[in-house]
Amino acid sequence: MKKRAFLKTSLWLATGAALSPLLKACDSSKKANNKTAVIPPPKLRRTTPFALPPLPYPSDALEPYIDKQTMEIHHGKHHGGYVNNLNDAVVGTVYADYELDDILARITTADADRKIRNNAGGHWNHTFFWQIMKPGGAPLPEGQFAAALNSTFGSFEQFKTAFTDAAKSVFGSGWAWLCVGKDKSLFISTTPNQDNPLMMQITPKTGTPVLGLDVWEHAYYLKYQNRRPDYISAFFNVINWEEVANRYNRAMFG
Ligand code: MN
Repeated sequence: MKKRAFLKTSLWLATGAALSPLLKACDSSKKANNKTAVIPPPKLRRTTPFALPPLPYPSDALEPYIDKQTMEIHHGKHHGGYVNNLNDAVVGTVYADYELDDILARITTADADRKIRNNAGGHWNHTFFWQIMKPGGAPLPEGQFAAALNSTFGSFEQFKTAFTDAAKSVFGSGWAWLCVGKDKSLFISTTPNQDNPLMMQITPKTGTPVLGLDVWEHAYYLKYQNRRPDYISAFFNVINWEEVANRYNRAMFG
């Protein structure tokens, strides 16, 4: 199946009809179109609007690394804006009652999808971002995640350098990620704007994010101005490695 036909089929699947035989058909076309992702059936069960989740800690809790004013604007205005815009954007579309992860799996590069793509990504990315930080950070837990970091990147320090370089390399606005790939290996990637590695119709390398860093200027400009490397370095003081390791374990072992 050609990629365009695959996307069409996927969109058609999004209508929720006769899923099983078609999923099998898509599955058997993996090799032909070199696309490894099979989209799970949508849950089709969201009955309430998307809502801005509260920060899991006070807005000044990440000081001095991330300042209170930045957190307030970032969470209340930016993340809040993505939530409001997403609720507006899905009205009257096939995505209207989809859960967020079902939207991310299906959203495409089509112009008609752009507003949903940007705001669904913005909502998911920021919800994730608040959770993988913690006042004072949390030490890297020993165990399978630490072992995987070491075996993939050589050492924690080498991982930190690679992730920092990736975050620095984002031109303009975007995100740096540490993900678990379909083959269960760790990889670092970046995405532009509010795209993320869960957007399997869009991102070149699909994966489950376990760590992510927002490198939009709105995330750091008030305190760091143009000094993105200082912000990236500060971020390492507030990473909730326990949460990251939990996400790794879920991605690896269900
Ligand atoms: Mn942001």
